[in-house]
Amino acid sequence: ADLTPVRLGTNGVTALISIMRGCDNMCSFCVVPFTRGRERSRDPESIVAEAKDLFEKGYKEVTLLGQNVDSYLYSGGGLKKELLTEEQKKAATNFAQLLEKVALVSPELRIRFSTSHPKDMTDEVLETMAKYENICKYVHLPVQSGNSKILEAMNRGYTREWYLNRIDAINRILPGCGISTDIITGFCGETEEDHADTLSLLKQVQYDYGFLFMYSERPKTLAERKYKDDVPEEIKSRRQSEIVAIQRENSAIKTKAGVGKVHKVLIEGFSKKSNEMFMGRNTQNTVVVFPKENYKKGDYVNVLVTTCTASTLIGEVVKKQD
Ligand code: SF4
Repeated sequence: ADLTPVRLGTNGVTALISIMRGCDNMCSFCVVPFTRGRERSRDPESIVAEAKDLFEKGYKEVTLLGQNVDSYLYSGGGLKKELLTEEQKKAATNFAQLLEKVALVSPELRIRFSTSHPKDMTDEVLETMAKYENICKYVHLPVQSGNSKILEAMNRGYTREWYLNRIDAINRILPGCGISTDIITGFCGETEEDHADTLSLLKQVQYDYGFLFMYSERPKTLAERKYKDDVPEEIKSRRQSEIVAIQRENSAIKTKAGVGKVHKVLIEGFSKKSNEMFMGRNTQNTVVVFPKENYKKGDYVNVLVTTCTASTLIGEVVKKQD
């Protein structure tokens, strides 16, 4: 394997588990298919065993990692999934089933995962998230562009309408779920109208967080071979600022909505600013800061949030979870 299956967080509370490697998609801007090879999923039993082991060592949160977790499929024999027969596919473990197996390790072990792919994210995954309190209600769903023509040039395998349908499914099945995205500004051939579609999508979805990039050509990618990187830098940069401005506003609205509510928080360690304050995250992945009192790292606490900054909730513990 080209990835170490388990990576431990330095906080002793959160850890990462790789559940697959490689990627079978061919997004035209991306080098991963060339550097990491074809997609292969790991044996679910070994993933569950690692999660159990981590929990026994005191870890309270695992993040299942893959380039496209929704495409996870373990058939027992390590075959590429397009080679499987329908019968083999039915007998295989898919991502929703893997999530359930890991969620059952302990209700005290939180589960996160990344990255979801809009083309492959099923309602079954969302329903499994809804079924288990310990699967965090947070989905990172990279859209990349709000315009279907650009999405096609990016070879993403979905349209704007398809993507918005997946967002509707998240909001329907998991009301209040945190949602974040990645956006690439100024991809080859992007016009002002295409860019306006990305702005309108941002306004419509109201993401909690956004990871916003300006397009820059990577050697060996399909885009390098097929398209011209033809959006001038100053235009990319202006479009990027417009995107950042909307996302900032959205993040502030989302963070503010958490004020006045009680959040279940897993304590990860001291806050950045003070050793008298602890920080942790709520289920939606928003950072929550509060006085440390006698609590300790790895505890779950209920925090009543009284105020916030642009991206951090601040409050105090109302009752310790048993
Ligand atoms: S962007 Fe993600 S899904 Fe697309 S090819 Fe790269 S790793 Fe695969």
